[in-house]
Amino acid sequence: NADTAMYRAKESGRNNFQYYSRELTAKAVERVRLESSLHRALERGELLLHYQPQVDLEHGRVRGLEALVRWQHPEAGLISPATFIPLAEESGIILAIGAWVLEQACGRMKDWLDRGLVTAETLISVNLSPKQFDQPNLVALIDRILTTTGLAAAQLELEITESTVMQSVEQAGDVLHRLRELGVKVAIDDFGTGYSSLIHLKRFPLTTLKIDKTFVSDIPHDANDTAITRAVIALAHSLSLEVLAEGVETQAQRAFLIDEGCPHGQGYLFSRPLDESGIEPFLRERLAQVESAVDSGARP
Ligand code: C2E
Ligand code: MG
Ligand code: MG
Ligand code: MG
Repeated sequence: NADTAMYRAKESGRNNFQYYSRELTAKAVERVRLESSLHRALERGELLLHYQPQVDLEHGRVRGLEALVRWQHPEAGLISPATFIPLAEESGIILAIGAWVLEQACGRMKDWLDRGLVTAETLISVNLSPKQFDQPNLVALIDRILTTTGLAAAQLELEITESTVMQSVEQAGDVLHRLRELGVKVAIDDFGTGYSSLIHLKRFPLTTLKIDKTFVSDIPHDANDTAITRAVIALAHSLSLEVLAEGVETQAQRAFLIDEGCPHGQGYLFSRPLDESGIEPFLRERLAQVESAVDSGARP
């Protein structure tokens, strides 16, 4: 009868509620677990950097290396930054992780320079999350890391996103000016996916625009992505910024970008991000190629 039906509906509603709250609890527990193991990860040395070459699209010369963090979890294996960086950002431990990444990347770069694997023009690019960019001592931190590692400021490029710049425009302008005074370069990462105003692009002392890989992946066949990519390249040229395409996977994309005046790129076509033991042979080989090209060019 009706009473029984009503009772059943209520029961099942309650069960649903219990079900959902149990789900939420499990997620929250998992999150707390991951966060606390992230603290330990740093102490135990479970974080590591991979490096992806950024190249001159035409000749393949190495323009720079982007440092990309990974977490070698004892049970779960290699965890992607897309999984743990957002958590680290929420919990605040991103500041400790970010400082470690900067120190590690600058130190490694200086070592490669000393060993002749890169030149004084090669850049090391390091991603900064919004919280890192907002920390009051960022400029002092970077200054200290450059001093302790001995790397020249001109070899460090920081990658920030449009939303990082736009979260507090006044403060961002101030930080960017102080970073430029220090001599480091600043790239806008994933350009085209955010909401930055062109006014700020013009006023801020930026050095580089990185065209997001979501546009690059569908050139040259997708008309919209092709138009956007062209527009970003034109914008970079007119603002006297360097421009670099992310996610270059095919020769067709490379050829299109060269034709359109984008000199630099990074992507699987050239190399996946590699660990230290993988990137060193890559650098040695590239250096040898460039030297032999110079040698043969110099011969009469
Ligand atoms: P991102 O800075 O835009 O880095 C580019 C991402 O694209 C990397 O993913 C890279 O492995 C991937 N990629 C490179 N070439 C290709 C390609 O040809 N095709 C495709 N489909 N993908 C390509 P990854 O290493 O998983 O990093 C993801 C994101 O995590 C980064 O995006 C960056 O936002 C963040 N991240 C990585 N390391 C750090 C870090 O040390 N600090 C902070 N705050 N964020 C980091
Ligand atoms: Mg990046
Ligand atoms: Mg990017
Ligand atoms: Mg990104």
